[in-house]
Amino acid sequence: MEIKKAKVQGFCFGVAITLKKAEEAIDARETVTTLGHVVHNPQMVESLEQRGLKNATSVDEVDTGALFVRAHGLPVDVYEKAKEKGLEIIDATCPMVTKIHVQAEKLKADGYKIIVVGDPNHPEVKGTLSHVPGAWCIETIEDVEKLPRGSRVGVVVQSTYSRERFTDIVRALVAKYYEVRAVNTICTDTNNRQTEALELSKEVEVMVVVGGKTSANTKHLAELSELHGAKSYHIEGPDELEAGWFHGVRTAGLMSGASTPGWLVDNVAQRMEELARQPA
Ligand code: SF4
Repeated sequence: MEIKKAKVQGFCFGVAITLKKAEEAIDARETVTTLGHVVHNPQMVESLEQRGLKNATSVDEVDTGALFVRAHGLPVDVYEKAKEKGLEIIDATCPMVTKIHVQAEKLKADGYKIIVVGDPNHPEVKGTLSHVPGAWCIETIEDVEKLPRGSRVGVVVQSTYSRERFTDIVRALVAKYYEVRAVNTICTDTNNRQTEALELSKEVEVMVVVGGKTSANTKHLAELSELHGAKSYHIEGPDELEAGWFHGVRTAGLMSGASTPGWLVDNVAQRMEELARQPA
């Protein structure tokens, strides 16, 4: 079996910066707490926890030390609360996420009613919504119908959203509103990986996508590959691979999400080769 690996592998630059900042912070301070996992990758989360990074669900639980802001960013009120509590804030929000906040604020200042496209329960989207109070949040094309009437809408999108779905939503908004100003805030890394998923899925029979089960960008890659013809499997590590997936398969693809380390992808590739050599 030939394994075709995507060219874009390993951490995106936002996750790489966040991890570097997290490691530096832990080494230099006694107590560093993050709200939610720093990356959608169980192996990396475990390694950071072993090095001393604490995890809390709310800023109310953090009374001392530094609050580490991961790549997704945090809602404005959480920053304010952390400042009130006298916590040191180490901000590792990805610049591509900050760009979404800035674009949304600009559109609002220009008088547009803001629509944020994305998962309302995702931490990044919660952060974006906090910058533009009163914004509408929609997740699917079906939600467009439910939106109130208006005339001028300004649209931004979650950094890891599916490009195809965003295009469809903008089309539906154009049909509904007099003026639509949409800014494609899907980040460059997500864009590149989605382009590769599209191309690679046409060349392979099976696609393995490695990344945390809660990682939005990894989920979209698996969906995209499946949609474009490759039987797709979203896994977190080599142990989840099954020999049966590769029986009779001549070409398999291998991709990873933005928070998957390169070494994990290599381990998966090695295990895929071993399984492919096993007799059916
Ligand atoms: S996926 Fe994009 S927005 Fe998210 S951390 Fe990586 S570069 Fe930044």
